[in-house]
Amino acid sequence: MHCYNHADRGAVGTCKACCKGLCAECAVDLGFGLSCRGPHEQRVTEVEALISRNASVQRVAGRAKYAAPAFCLFMGAIFTGYGLLSSSELRFIVLLGVGFLVFGAYSLVANIRAFGKGG
Ligand SMILES: [Zn+2]
Ligand SMILES: [Zn+2]
Repeated sequence: MHCYNHADRGAVGTCKACCKGLCAECAVDLGFGLSCRGPHEQRVTEVEALISRNASVQRVAGRAKYAAPAFCLFMGAIFTGYGLLSSSELRFIVLLGVGFLVFGAYSLVANIRAFGKGG
């Protein structure tokens, strides 16, 4: 591949915005990729910022995927234990606790499937 601007020079890479071949003189190294000189420098920088912002949002979501199921399992354990230790009038709390446990386990499995094991 040759430089888009200099047909006699070999390209060192391509612009991330327009995919044109660029020689060392025409290319701008932005640290995460190359851009041709001009408006594409700004554009490639913005796209990269957007991608890294999305990536960090997904990392947070990956951590949060266990929070709600863990909370349900925790509440379920408390209700079940409290209901079992209490008088017979409070035995319905055991059912509530089991409901929380089932829901927590279900959403845990559903979240793992939805997000994938790699997070
Ligand atoms: Zn370009
Ligand atoms: Zn060039």
